[in-house]
Amino acid sequence: MAQSPQPAADDRRLLDVLEERPCSFCETGTLERGLYKGNNAVVCDNCGTPRAQLWTPS
Ligand SMILES: [Zn+2]
Repeated sequence: MAQSPQPAADDRRLLDVLEERPCSFCETGTLERGLYKGNNAVVCDNCGTPRAQLWTPS
C-alpha cells in the first residue's frame, strides 16, 4: 500500500471498529470513545491508554 493520507471518514470508522474491544494493554479494560488530549479517541476505561486518536477537528 502507498503511504497516502487516509480520509477522515476512514479514521472515524477506525474508532467504530476499535470501540468496545478488549484493551491490549491490560487484562480487564474495554476500549471506549472519549477524548485524549482534546482529540477524539478510543481510550481504555481501565488503564486510560489511548488505542487510537484523531487529530482531525470534529
Ligand atoms: Zn487498558
